[in-house]
Amino acid sequence: MKIVKQIIKFLLVYTGVIDLIHYFITSRLPACIIWRYHSVLDIKDGDVLYASPSITVSPKEFERQIRYLSKRYNIISLDELVSSIKRGCVPRNSLVITFDDGYRDNYLYAYPILKKYRATATIYLTANCIGTNKMVWMHKVLYMLQKTQEKGIEVKGKLYQLGDRDNVLKACKIIGGMVKGMKSIKERDEFLDDLIKRLKVNVEGVDNLMLKWEDVLAMKKDGFSFGGHTLTHPNLPSLSREEMRKEIEESKKVIEERLGEPVILFSYPNGGATSHYNEVVKEVVQECGYVNATTSDGGVVDTNSALYAMPRWGVDNLLDMAIGSVIEKLN
Ligand SMILES: [Zn+2]
Repeated sequence: MKIVKQIIKFLLVYTGVIDLIHYFITSRLPACIIWRYHSVLDIKDGDVLYASPSITVSPKEFERQIRYLSKRYNIISLDELVSSIKRGCVPRNSLVITFDDGYRDNYLYAYPILKKYRATATIYLTANCIGTNKMVWMHKVLYMLQKTQEKGIEVKGKLYQLGDRDNVLKACKIIGGMVKGMKSIKERDEFLDDLIKRLKVNVEGVDNLMLKWEDVLAMKKDGFSFGGHTLTHPNLPSLSREEMRKEIEESKKVIEERLGEPVILFSYPNGGATSHYNEVVKEVVQECGYVNATTSDGGVVDTNSALYAMPRWGVDNLLDMAIGSVIEKLN
């Protein structure tokens, strides 16, 4: 199925259908696409480090995408989009670029490329991991599964083979799913501590993984904006309202203190197959003073879009092919 989809995407791009659709339909619509990135980094074969292929795009590919997008879309800031929606309109043929989590590679690789194409972006920060050398929990899991000398790990009565990249990624996905379902931060942290002990991997002091505050301030000077993404990246619907509120509210305060200005943008952590937000989560985000929240559900933003559930497209979508190597060849 995946191959069939790829072939269809290839044909749509190769025959120019994508560009025609864009020229005659979408470029005339008052609609905006919010693009969702995570890390921009080269992953060497067999060494995925903390990054995962599903959320990482190489700097070369990222530049191709930004070059393609900047030629065809009006790249605006998320703040501009939110203000427009509040006034009941959306800039025609517009596009917003966002990054989740707050990886240092956003500053090292994505930021110079965005500046080159005069584009701006919003970066959502996992507040406790910024400037602290702390890994977000899902990277902790991936990192220890691949760095361990153990051949396998038993979790909740099931043995997971480790040692090669495929096994590690498979185990990581299943264990990550378990963590997302945990009902409290304490339960999650105890589970992770137990894994660390049994896998015998040091997960502290990993430098250059997450942004430093000076990086954030440098990008802010260039017009980039920053939003909340909780303190520690839990799956919010799994938590009690009290813990949910702490994660949402305190991350806002941490970022506001560093930036010296109100933080009004938020993105719900953990997309994929899990339900990463619900009515209660939306309510709490609003109560804490955010004016906008984006999801990981695919879709286009128009004047009818809900301010607390604005959809975004990930890099694994139709346009990823359009802006990938095929276009490079056609150019
Ligand atoms: Zn995230």
